[in-house]
Amino acid sequence: MKEEFVLLLVKEKNYSAALDSYVDDKKFDKVEEFCTTQNEPGLLTQLLTKYFEKHKKHVELKNIKEAEEFRRLALKLMQNQSSKNQLDPRVVLEKIPASWMFKEQDVDLIGFLSSLFDFQLTIEENTKIAERIIQMETLNTEIEFNNLQAAYLVVREDTECQVCKGKLGFKKIRIFPHGMAFHMRCAKNPQECPITRQRFDMDAVVAGG
Ligand SMILES: [Zn+2]
Repeated sequence: MKEEFVLLLVKEKNYSAALDSYVDDKKFDKVEEFCTTQNEPGLLTQLLTKYFEKHKKHVELKNIKEAEEFRRLALKLMQNQSSKNQLDPRVVLEKIPASWMFKEQDVDLIGFLSSLFDFQLTIEENTKIAERIIQMETLNTEIEFNNLQAAYLVVREDTECQVCKGKLGFKKIRIFPHGMAFHMRCAKNPQECPITRQRFDMDAVVAGG
């Protein structure tokens, strides 16, 4: 009976209701399979969005157990899909709760976020990913600063250096943790962004007097 109901929804192209039906029934394995077999772009992203929203709703209602369940479902979905480019990075970035920690017990969220970097995205969007990673980084002091530095930004062929406005190319560039990249000659100090003057050294800056 239930399966027929889902089929009917699919026929009507009411995918959102079909997803809701699976989720309400807690058929989480099935719903992911459903998304991948429908040949309907964006379904997995839709499902992930539903998980985020359910998580948020349960947090608000103080249903700790349910909130945790949907958090894990969302993380699992992201991990399953991280190499398949099925999730829309714009949506993921917009909806992922900022409070989620970087390194989950068995899910590498930073690895997932890094996998979202895409040459098809604009620099602004890639920068936004980098900013989100930084934002999350501040929540987790256990992450080693240096391990992160390289992963932040995809430099495209036409990416400009904001200092000299010349093309960056791929060699002799410096990428800062907030997602900006410059020629090494244009960013002589590896610990300070030449544009924003933001500092990235681990220790507090000691004023030189
Ligand atoms: Zn430059």
